[in-house]
Amino acid sequence: MNIYEHQAKEIFQQYGIKVPRRRLVENFAELKEAYAILSPSVVLKAQILGGGRGKAGGIYFASSLPEVEAGWSKLKGSALHGQEIKKLLLEEKVGIIQEFYLGITISPDEYCPVVLISSHGGIDVETISKEHGNFLAEAKIDPCFGLHGYVLGELINRLGIDSQLTNELSNIGKKLYQIFRDYRATLVEINPLALTQENELVAVDARLALDDNAVPLYVHLRQLKASMEQTVEDALKQKGIDYVELNGNIGIISVGAGETMATMDLVSREGGVPACFLDFSGGVNTDSIETALRTVSAREEVKAVLFNIFGGLTRIDLVADGFLRAWQRIGGTKQPVVIRVEGTNSHLGKEALAKAGFDTCATLLEAVKLVVELGKEG
Ligand code: GDP
Ligand code: MN
Repeated sequence: MNIYEHQAKEIFQQYGIKVPRRRLVENFAELKEAYAILSPSVVLKAQILGGGRGKAGGIYFASSLPEVEAGWSKLKGSALHGQEIKKLLLEEKVGIIQEFYLGITISPDEYCPVVLISSHGGIDVETISKEHGNFLAEAKIDPCFGLHGYVLGELINRLGIDSQLTNELSNIGKKLYQIFRDYRATLVEINPLALTQENELVAVDARLALDDNAVPLYVHLRQLKASMEQTVEDALKQKGIDYVELNGNIGIISVGAGETMATMDLVSREGGVPACFLDFSGGVNTDSIETALRTVSAREEVKAVLFNIFGGLTRIDLVADGFLRAWQRIGGTKQPVVIRVEGTNSHLGKEALAKAGFDTCATLLEAVKLVVELGKEG
């Protein structure tokens, strides 16, 4: 679970990390009030989940009220990375001399937390690691041992960062690790961590992502989740559907995590890009099929849909019946739907579908090839 920058900054501040003076604003009156306090030079920042706002036009600099208002009208209510911008963070503009990167995440290769520091922050860390390998240093963290100053000191030294900053940078690193543990994070990141003209290190940006599996176990994490607006993913989860939005144009509807992943892999192998991962974990019936078809087909990017159900305990005759009822309820989808059903009672299911005018593919591979083709045409 990702949380918003303004929430992460509250937490960073509680742990003693310096963050810019700021106000969260939701309407015009609040904007003007906030600007009166933070003027003259400010930054308007779109509050959406995830980073990369700068490049996508979600960060706006202003140094007068008309400029602030112009930024507001541009950002407020518009969409960024598929999310509507409802709130903005108005911040005093910090005079930056140098930008660092400081982050802690869990390494899938090392099976442990790792701390990463870069003397060239601001850009995303993947770019830093690919293009500026020498500017990035990392160290594994043994959770039983913790993150100690000398480890951070060694990284800072290796990067050739001014030794006058070593203490302060290590302190921020240690605080970040404390947050990482206390919030059961999968990622905690300051990018950029700015060295200001006043010679202070300030977290100009803040990101914190929590482990979804840990959230139900802790009161403070549950509270944090409750304060978040429900995402499409959350709403579907409550209906027994695991759903993850991806960047492609092929909507995948399947059952079981294994089969869904295998389907995604096949789509990728055949040259397509999945638009989502949608797995009926809570049963395939008319209601869940209706929800799935509505969700997937509502997305502009989706050009073709693959409905791929293998029935073990699930009976395909019931799936076919559910599909036909759901199809009628929603009046069909604007995108073509490729159907592949197999398993228990599949001959009955295929018969019912054929009667209603729906072709089914003989194999998953055939279905995947067809949907990839249709995705290109759409
Ligand atoms: P992101 O693109 O979503 O990661 O958003 P950031 O909060 O990191 O802002 C993008 C970039 O805008 C940063 O990397 C900075 O270079 C710049 N920026 C943001 N806030 C300030 C500020 O207060 N002062 C200055 N000088 N630059 C800023
Ligand atoms: Mn950033």
